Amino acid sequence: MKNKIIVTGGCGYIGSHTVVELINNNYDVVILDDLSNSSVETLGRIEKITGVKPVFIDIDLKNDTETKKVFSKHKDAKAVINFAAHKAVGESVQKPLMYYKNNLYSLINMLSSMVENNINGVIFSSSATVYGTPETLPITEKSKTQRPFSPYGNTKKIAEEVIDDLIKSNDNFSAISLRYFNPIGAHESGLIGELPSGVPNNLMPYITQTAVGLREKLMVYGNDYPTKDGTPIRDYIHVVDLAKAHVLAVERIINKQQEQPYEIFNLGTGNGFSVLDVINSFEEVTNSKLNYEITDRRPGDVPELYAATDLVKEKLGWEPKKSLNEMIKSSWDWEQKLRNNKE
Ligand code: NAD
Repeated sequence: MKNKIIVTGGCGYIGSHTVVELINNNYDVVILDDLSNSSVETLGRIEKITGVKPVFIDIDLKNDTETKKVFSKHKDAKAVINFAAHKAVGESVQKPLMYYKNNLYSLINMLSSMVENNINGVIFSSSATVYGTPETLPITEKSKTQRPFSPYGNTKKIAEEVIDDLIKSNDNFSAISLRYFNPIGAHESGLIGELPSGVPNNLMPYITQTAVGLREKLMVYGNDYPTKDGTPIRDYIHVVDLAKAHVLAVERIINKQQEQPYEIFNLGTGNGFSVLDVINSFEEVTNSKLNYEITDRRPGDVPELYAATDLVKEKLGWEPKKSLNEMIKSSWDWEQKLRNNKE
């Protein structure tokens, strides 16, 4: 019999790629999503890629009663992967309560429903934002966490603490938090990828939307940071590599291979690329010129972030495979396919 995994936020960007990898690894998947930042069409696309349409339940996890009902119906699930959250940093500064409410109510409802139904393992989507401005690089899992600049980031830090407290109070419960660096790219089929609603917050979709003419130009916020070319450095990671790490984390939880009930791993490549590196690679990969302008720094941007990846390699046996050019090419293929489908 196949193991069942509940995936909250499974219609979203990282969730949909992870559902594909889970199905390809012979798991039964139940997606819980309120479609607040995704589309039901993703299910058909997952089916096209894998041959399997996952079970889908349209549910807002802020709703305590409904969440309990759904978990009790699927109490045979072996673990939960929790992607469901709002994620727009800028919006979270404007609407902090909406972010705390959505990201924390739904987490707490989900955890309570898990405990009630004896589903004892969760994988949590965290973020490198919990490290704030790091004192040393690369960032290891032992690096100090700081209060993140944005309410969004703070929901990730608080969520990690909530999970930690739950585990301390409950010997049966275990968790793995995966701290993502900068996920980009799309599935090689070109059927699933990042679909930002409104103006993108992140660099890669902004670049591809500018290149297809949806945005006039890319603003590069600051070229006077203490980095090699003055623009901020980040650790970009292909979403399919990221998705595969979730399958390994699920296996670690189900097979009770954890060394501690709560484990935390960085998910990045360990390579830092500046904004100008990404623009140059994009121009090289697509053989085109990107319209961009250097402007003032943006509040909250950290000069340099990249991960130490030794722990995740050793414990999960995970290694990212895709190069920056491959990440950029897949983002570009996805963007073009999206626009062609809309015409
Ligand atoms: P996404 O917005 O594409 O996916 C999140 C999904 O959760 C969406 O389908 C949305 O409809 C759903 N959702 C939100 N609130 C919900 C609720 N109350 N009930 C049910 N469903 C709800 O985002 P993503 O990029 O796939 O990110 C997935 C997770 O990874 C999020 O927790 C995000 O914070 C985290 N993360 C993302 C990044 C990134 O750059 N994409 C970086 C670090 C961490």
